[in-house]
Amino acid sequence: MSTPAAASAAVASACDVLVIGGGPAGSTAAALLAERGYRVTLLEKARHPRFHIGESLLPANLPLLEKLGVASAVKAIGMEKWGAEFVSPWHDHNQAFEFADAMDKSMPMAYQVRRSEFDEILIRNASRKNARVVEGCQVLEVDFLPGNAGALAQARRDDGGMETVHARFVLDASGRDTFLGNRFKAKQRNRKHNSAAIYAHFAGAERNPGKAAGNITIFWFEHGWFWFIPLADGATSVGAVTWQYYLKTRNRKSLEQFLQDTIALCAPLGQRLQHAQLCSPVEATGNYSYVCDRTHGSNYLLLGDAYTFIDPVFSSGVMLAMHSAFVGADTVDTCLRHPQHAAAAMKKFDNSMRIGPKAFSWFIYRVTNPTMRDMFMQPRNIFRVKEALLSVLAGDVYGNTPIRRPLLLFKGLYYTASLLDFRRTVKAWRMRKRNIRVVDETVAAAD
Ligand SMILES: Cc1cc2nc3c(=O)[nH]c(=O)nc-3n(C[C@H](O)[C@H](O)[C@H](O)COP(=O)(O)OP(=O)(O)OC[C@H]3O[C@@H](n4cnc5c(N)ncnc54)[C@H](O)[C@@H]3O)c2cc1C
Repeated sequence: MSTPAAASAAVASACDVLVIGGGPAGSTAAALLAERGYRVTLLEKARHPRFHIGESLLPANLPLLEKLGVASAVKAIGMEKWGAEFVSPWHDHNQAFEFADAMDKSMPMAYQVRRSEFDEILIRNASRKNARVVEGCQVLEVDFLPGNAGALAQARRDDGGMETVHARFVLDASGRDTFLGNRFKAKQRNRKHNSAAIYAHFAGAERNPGKAAGNITIFWFEHGWFWFIPLADGATSVGAVTWQYYLKTRNRKSLEQFLQDTIALCAPLGQRLQHAQLCSPVEATGNYSYVCDRTHGSNYLLLGDAYTFIDPVFSSGVMLAMHSAFVGADTVDTCLRHPQHAAAAMKKFDNSMRIGPKAFSWFIYRVTNPTMRDMFMQPRNIFRVKEALLSVLAGDVYGNTPIRRPLLLFKGLYYTASLLDFRRTVKAWRMRKRNIRVVDETVAAAD
């Protein structure tokens, strides 16, 4: 327990790598670098366990968890997720996909996790690997020093005390707070995808039978789509991702009422929540897709959501964040150990940071398009296009599996089908243009 004098005392320390933020990206990078013998300081403004949205992992997460040494800890808290189900009001059947049918058959499943538990496993792993982890400590300032002398950071602890940290290298893993992105005014809203989310946890939701009980279900509805993510303790995460114009119709309704009214617009979801009760506060996140104009600079990298955030329809965020941490740790290692190779390492990091978001975004921008919906609802495996699609859904996008050709063919089929139904395509294009317009800068901030 700290005394008032200790509480106000400033702590000054030095390290090789300062990590801002202890979510999946920051905790992963801190563990990997500490394991290699670097002096790592991770400052996290919250205290774990803390709530975070984003509970559905991808099969491509699992090898990363193995390498970190936390696979069995995650298995113990996770709900097995063997696939995904799509429900569309414009089709007369539901469509289920199993990851086992992807091109690489070695990654057949993933987990749904409570993020408070998952993120705590990762940050405790970083401590165990000898990273210095300070929770309840918010980074306020980072000044990069001239002459390649690293950076000086100022942070405030929640007991009122201050920390000053000198670091040779900084990893910004501050998530959607985009600490360095804001500081450098490098963050740009994604104008191709202007939506927002409203979400909560429910107890007593109806699950699929058997092995499919833990599958994610995506329900399309008129104003966007819903996720339905069953968790191991019986709760279910439910959220709506909608266009801004729809959020504006909330007016003075409470978030809870607005979520319930939105669920009422999607009968099949309403049915699965018929006997369910809300068991968490309802939260909302607005204006939420963005990208920074850089992935790195002199003595710093942006990891995970601190660089970019794309729509969560394919549950890619945690995998992208952890993958960025693995590549980021290698990059820092090269920069500090072999500075003469720093530029090449940074370039490689930059390329890698763009691959995942690019692979998912093509599908994200089209996921509410009727042609794409048809292709998801009636998938055919001509020339392995369905397997390649499933590989993307599994997060297998980093070039280890030969999905390029079948994906090109999938895209070709999409454009051909769009041309064949030209009138519907033009109508959908016009509607998308209307949907992604900015209605009001403040509206999506919701509460
Ligand atoms: C509505 C919604 C649904 C989603 N659904 C999914 C999903 O189903 N599956 C999925 O994989 N992803 C999902 N995501 C995305 C996923 O949550 C993120 O991509 C993921 O958490 C990114 O990890 P990160 O480590 O980069 O950032 P975060 O997990 O956000 O961690 C950042 C950490 O930095 C800390 N921090 C911030 N600023 C400071 C500071 N100045 N000083 C110290 N600490 C700081 C924060 O407290 C936080 O703990 C969803 C996101 C949203 C918004």
